[in-house]
Amino acid sequence: MRRDIEDYVLKIRKSEYSFFKKRAGDVALLIPYPYPQAIGSLSWQAVYKKFADYGVRIERFFFPPFSNFKLSELRSVETLRPLGDFELVLVSSIWEKDFVEIVKRCDIKAKILAGGKGVEVVPNLWASEFDGVLLGRVEALLDEYGTDIFRKYGIVKSSSDKVEFFYSIFFSSWSVFKDAVLLELSKSCPRRCPFCVVPETAGRFAYVEFENFKEIVLRLRKFKDIGAKKLGIITTALTDVPRVLDYLEFAKTYFDLTASSFTVGSFKAEVLKYLHQQTVTFGVETTVEAKRKEVGKYFSDAKLLEVVRACRGMDKIVKIYLLWEEDWEAGFFEKLKPFIGKKGIEFSINPVVVKFGVKKIEEIKRLLANFPLPNWKKIERYRRYLISLGFDADVLNKKDWYTEVVASLVDKGYLDKKVLFVKGKRLEKIVDNTLKEVVEEILNRS
Ligand code: SF4
Repeated sequence: MRRDIEDYVLKIRKSEYSFFKKRAGDVALLIPYPYPQAIGSLSWQAVYKKFADYGVRIERFFFPPFSNFKLSELRSVETLRPLGDFELVLVSSIWEKDFVEIVKRCDIKAKILAGGKGVEVVPNLWASEFDGVLLGRVEALLDEYGTDIFRKYGIVKSSSDKVEFFYSIFFSSWSVFKDAVLLELSKSCPRRCPFCVVPETAGRFAYVEFENFKEIVLRLRKFKDIGAKKLGIITTALTDVPRVLDYLEFAKTYFDLTASSFTVGSFKAEVLKYLHQQTVTFGVETTVEAKRKEVGKYFSDAKLLEVVRACRGMDKIVKIYLLWEEDWEAGFFEKLKPFIGKKGIEFSINPVVVKFGVKKIEEIKRLLANFPLPNWKKIERYRRYLISLGFDADVLNKKDWYTEVVASLVDKGYLDKKVLFVKGKRLEKIVDNTLKEVVEEILNRS
């Protein structure tokens, strides 16, 4: 057994607390992140809980924080058994690049079933790499197929849109959220921005009813005895949940509160007084008001300034996500400058990832025609410009962007599968030479 991996797993065991006893299981659950980050995702905890409800015991495997390992070297948190001992491995993840990492490291014979957003938008690609993919919410899949799901390889899709909400069943003192437990307040999104896969893959918008919310918060108090002071509320847009102030008023009695995401359009400044977080995040997408209208996510500059003013008034850092590079909008940034203060406003530039696997192909064609592929040199100049104005700014990793776009092109048969799995810079080089022509071809096809 590799000593470094064993030490890592023992450290997880020592730091972790749960309602569930650590017991040997029949099925492996692979989470392709190091544990301190993985604990901040509710999706694998949901899988674990849902399978436990069906009497299926699961052993969990996390990626170590170093890169020189194979899947066969991983050990379970429950029993330290190797991953290769299991006949069936479930993978829970969101991003395409995580599945690429698994394929690159795979040296085991187990059947592997993959689930999560990353496979949902490009199911054909991953069904041919793994033994099957699971599409749909875990609660709906399990209730529809029961444990028969293990025998249904290929693409297994739920036809139900049953919604169940999940909350932390594991808590760890060794995590980036070491003093927080999580609760999913809503699923999907009531808005339907044409470039976004959330409403398309996550189904209808739903949120926890107030009475249920109260019950869950009271249940989560158990974690307070072992150091959880915060309740992290997971939602695409906190202020889209009706009566949200009642929810926050109730929960603040028991926990310090944080929330994951906000929309400018529905933002209410009153929520800020409940939140114990330094940074408040908004998907602004583009700094040009007219373009926001064009891409189907409209709010005025005046509303955005009102939101920034409210946040900065409470000394919060405002983090603004942009999907489209712009010609420098000096006027827009001049308006924001009075609110910068000490590192008060941050930009994150994540060029839009067009998912060719999604159904809204006509919308995608329109967006592609109007907004060209990222010009990385220009984006880098843009980032430096923002920093020169006194803002903080970062840019999405270029390789991650390519991986996501290329995965969807491979899924649709426009690119060879090999392209996705070459290492390092070659991925970008090959794609740089071909992606533009492939996209143009798609645009020209009816
Ligand atoms: S508001 Fe955000 S999550 Fe909702 S559809 Fe638009 S981009 Fe997606």
